[in-house]
Amino acid sequence: MMESSKKTLTLDYAARNVNPAAFSTMVKPAGSLCNLDCHYCYYLDKSLQYDGKQPLMSPELLERFTRQYIEANEVPVVTFLWHGGEPLMQGVDFYRKALELQNRYSSGKKIENVLQTNGTLLNEEWCKFFAKNNFLIGISIDGPKDIHDTFRLNKAGKPSFDKVMNGIDLLKRYKVEFNTLSVVNKLSEKRGSEVYQFLKNIGSHYMQFLPAVEHVVEIPGRKRAVIVPPEHEGAHIATWSVSANGYGEFLNDIFDIWVRNDVGQYFVQIFDSTLAQYCGIQPGLCSMNETCGEALIVEHNGDVYPCDHFVYPEYKLGNISEMSLREIYLGQKRFDFGMDKRSTLPSECMNCEYFTLCRGECPKHRFEPVSSGEGKKNILCEGFKLFFKHTEPYMKYMRDLLASGKPAFNVIPWARTNF
Ligand code: SF4
Ligand code: SF4
Repeated sequence: MMESSKKTLTLDYAARNVNPAAFSTMVKPAGSLCNLDCHYCYYLDKSLQYDGKQPLMSPELLERFTRQYIEANEVPVVTFLWHGGEPLMQGVDFYRKALELQNRYSSGKKIENVLQTNGTLLNEEWCKFFAKNNFLIGISIDGPKDIHDTFRLNKAGKPSFDKVMNGIDLLKRYKVEFNTLSVVNKLSEKRGSEVYQFLKNIGSHYMQFLPAVEHVVEIPGRKRAVIVPPEHEGAHIATWSVSANGYGEFLNDIFDIWVRNDVGQYFVQIFDSTLAQYCGIQPGLCSMNETCGEALIVEHNGDVYPCDHFVYPEYKLGNISEMSLREIYLGQKRFDFGMDKRSTLPSECMNCEYFTLCRGECPKHRFEPVSSGEGKKNILCEGFKLFFKHTEPYMKYMRDLLASGKPAFNVIPWARTNF
């Protein structure tokens, strides 16, 4: 593809910029503060950007953010995504206040709340509050105990699995809706089916799998390596990173069980997003979009960034105390960040047979130099190719089912008899 066409504004992206504003925001009410010290956490180091301090969001800033966020979204439903660090490091009264403010500023819009937590601080008070106020809870759990407890330790180096399981039991007891987010790391390789079965057993019906692949540097005197952006010189791949083939095989193992048994009952984000690509509709996974920048980050002090994985000073878009969230969202810097996902792709991606599915995936994984010397390629590329090749016949079959008005789960008997 010609270099100039990489920079052309797509109709889809243009539409998103002229249609009524609709974007999501991940808000960090406790910044990077967390009670755990997971080895691969990309957020704990953010305290370095704030002089090592980890203050909580103030009630004044919460009010400013709530008003601006609801005002900026010109759609009937506005979703608040509470994220960390660990968002439960703010007490339950903070969220009571948040609901009061949402109510005050809603202007007739429906408000939803989603909160991502490591689960270890959940207790009866939290669960009663979440149940009463219809929060959807995302739990970070990587799979069986030995996988989870190798990297997800607390500040004293103690494992966290039992506390997470206790939190999940409480969520179930109080009938709080939850889904799971599992980091796929070196230890997850060759254990896809086991991880999937484990997540089904604990009651997860919606699963996200996040590949742990980070670029790090060692800093003398610091216990943990610091995660840096892909363009950082002299960095190396962290030891706990999943390999490309390991990730592809992990997904394929899960897919084989899912497509023969679970379509329509269990939802795996990357499978749904891949099918969405085949059907020509917007995928839920941002990495499969042509451009980035549709989920802003609002830090504890009002600083705004274009993505959770690009919370670095050079990517800061502004602060909601100095300009409105709407102005920040509509600003050139966010737009440029979004377009860079496509404009910095090497031609190997643009000419790839899977490009319309993969779109080069996430720019934070572009570490691998390409022989042509133009830019860098996604370190997980070979894994994505394995996944897209393996799933192609099933995805096409499901696409055709949907096109003829039939449910996607009709693929199950076909998959069982044809492969
Ligand atoms: S940089 Fe990666 S995680 Fe961030 S919006 Fe883009 S694809 Fe998504
Ligand atoms: S599979 Fe690899 S070459 Fe193809 S678009 Fe994805 S990252 Fe690029």
